[in-house]
Parts: sequence; C-alpha cells; structure tokens
Amino acid sequence: MTGTRFFNIDANLEYENIIADHLEEYNGDKEGEEMHQVLIRVTPDFYQENLVAHGEIYEADCMQCDDIDFAVYMFNKQPGVTIDYRTGKNWANDGEEPIDPSTLPNATEYVYSRDSDTFHLPTCRYAKNISDENRVEIKAPYEWMVDTLNLVPCGTCKPYPANF
Ligand SMILES: [Zn+2]
Ligand SMILES: [Zn+2]
Repeated sequence: MTGTRFFNIDANLEYENIIADHLEEYNGDKEGEEMHQVLIRVTPDFYQENLVAHGEIYEADCMQCDDIDFAVYMFNKQPGVTIDYRTGKNWANDGEEPIDPSTLPNATEYVYSRDSDTFHLPTCRYAKNISDENRVEIKAPYEWMVDTLNLVPCGTCKPYPANF
C-alpha cells in the first residue's frame, strides 16, 4: 500500500525495530536455545474502497514466546499534510492538524456519492437517492467541493453559494 513518510518511518519502523531486536536477541546463537520466528500480518484498511488506505492493522506474534504478541492500528497520516483518502489527493496545510473544511467561511452542508463526481444540497432528490454505503455528508465551502475534492455542482439542485 501507499503510505506516507510518517507512516513508513515513524509508525511502522518503531514496530519493525521491536521485532528486529527480538529476533536478534533470540537468534539461536545461545547454547540450548532455539531461534525465534515472528509471524507478521499487515492488513490495509481501505475504508469503503477509498483509493488511499486510512491505515493498517499490524499484527505480530512470536511462535516461540509471548514477548512479541500484538495488534496495532497504524494511521496513514502525515503531519502538515491533509489527505483526501477518497481520491488520493493531498495538499500541504499550515498547521500540524488537517484542515477541517466545516470550520472555513461559508461552509455549507452538501451530499455526494463516492461513486459519482456530482455534489448536491441535502434536499436534492438525487441526494436522497444515494445509498447509505456511498453517501458522504460534508460541511464545506463551495470552493472546497470544486477545487479540493474536484466535484461538480448538480445541475438540478444547483448548490451554488449565495454570493455566486
Ligand atoms: Zn520470541
Ligand atoms: Zn442535486
């Protein structure tokens, strides 16, 4: 899977080092001691078929002892970068925290479907037809919908801002 630098370096490496240290300690060199082997299973979490995984479930289990036996969820994130997991688009942001579009000026409630490029007002009949599985409800400025998410305003409900 495609992971951010933070994900690969800070999150994964920490656990890989724990495992590497363990395997080095129990490498079978010591008299009367067998070599330890660690099973690892990594499952990417593509929440609702997004293009970029939100994270992964990282499981490790030593076959010879209980020192290594964990399952952790690692978030695929990057400080200073906002990722749209739906499309894979990402952009730098000024702060450490991702931008929450609902806090921006003129944020409006919109609805779109994960399998469509069109966004709607919640009252639109097409918005009401979107299945729960694909339905995304978002509060964001019009510009965010068009420029950041690359969605197209619906021709029926015309979800333009008041000053458009
Ligand atoms: Zn072990
Ligand atoms: Zn519409």
